[in-house]
Amino acid sequence: MDYRVRQRRLVQEVESKRLAALLVTHLPNVRYLCGFTGSAGVLLVTARGSTLFTDGRYTVQAREEVQGARVVIARKAALAAAAEHLAQRGGRGAIPVGIEAAHLTLATHALLRKHSGKRARLRATSGMVEQLRQVKDSEELKLMRAAARLSATLFDQVIQHVRPGVREAEIAAELEFAARRAGAQGMSFPTIVAAGQRSALPHAHASTHQVPRRGFVVFDFGVILDGYCSDMTRTVHVGSPDARSRALYEAVLEAQAAGVQAVRAQAAAGEVDRAARSVLRRHTLALYFTHSTGHGVGLEIYEGPRLAKGQAEKLQNGMVVTVEPGVYIPGRGGVRIEDMVLVRDDGPELLTTASKELLTL
Ligand code: ZN
Ligand code: ZN
Repeated sequence: MDYRVRQRRLVQEVESKRLAALLVTHLPNVRYLCGFTGSAGVLLVTARGSTLFTDGRYTVQAREEVQGARVVIARKAALAAAAEHLAQRGGRGAIPVGIEAAHLTLATHALLRKHSGKRARLRATSGMVEQLRQVKDSEELKLMRAAARLSATLFDQVIQHVRPGVREAEIAAELEFAARRAGAQGMSFPTIVAAGQRSALPHAHASTHQVPRRGFVVFDFGVILDGYCSDMTRTVHVGSPDARSRALYEAVLEAQAAGVQAVRAQAAAGEVDRAARSVLRRHTLALYFTHSTGHGVGLEIYEGPRLAKGQAEKLQNGMVVTVEPGVYIPGRGGVRIEDMVLVRDDGPELLTTASKELLTL
């Protein structure tokens, strides 16, 4: 990973906002900028260089991982050490220092103010590093392709465990066990296995509910591989589907394909949502599509851009987004289909390789 290039880009942003420094406290951002994966670390980024503050638990790890930044092993909390560093700097007066407003509590803010004294004026910023993270470089894409591929393989394995009477949680356990054995560091979010009527709950975590004799089963899950998240959803049917269930599935599949086709560089994020939603409207199912169409994914499971109604933000070459329309009919069941898609100048590239034909088990 070219951490120096990332930091240089960030410094341009920092300077364009007339800040002297940015104090990066959100750990995925710290990792993105210097490679540090520990659970306690603060990165101070300035035009003259970056410094990572961490504590004695991470002496060895920081030496191994951190690139493009000086490492300070503090005897106190990393944040307090960073603030004191600001307080003790040379020069006169106070400098404007950006903080990541979305990732600081009021208590942490107070601590920062106390330790930095009168030498730093803390300025709220939002999404400065997250903005850079939206566009993936070639090394990140390699990792994301591998994560997406692994989840597709796991899905093919786990459907063998789906049959009437098996509990959702047992299926999720098989999936997660196989994921760890295949090298995943963990799951990107709590695995969703939603069977029968519960498939109508868009975010139902795997429960002790059993797979019924007949009905949809929704799987929505992702793995973390080398720090990068995957995210996919497939819906299968246990027993033979009636005409209405089949029509429901086909409508969502058509909407998902329309969404994927709308993914290209320079398209507005809202266009992808509109493309998927208009198919469901034609099938008079738009009422049952109760969430947005997708989101960016990377070091975190939910990143920008948001693929939602009216979002004007332009997609860019190298972004990785999900396309995941669904319909949820209370008392009957639901269908969702989700792929990870790479945005390219010449159109979409599907990263999720699993089949989308309706599987009847
Ligand atoms: Zn998902
Ligand atoms: Zn998703």
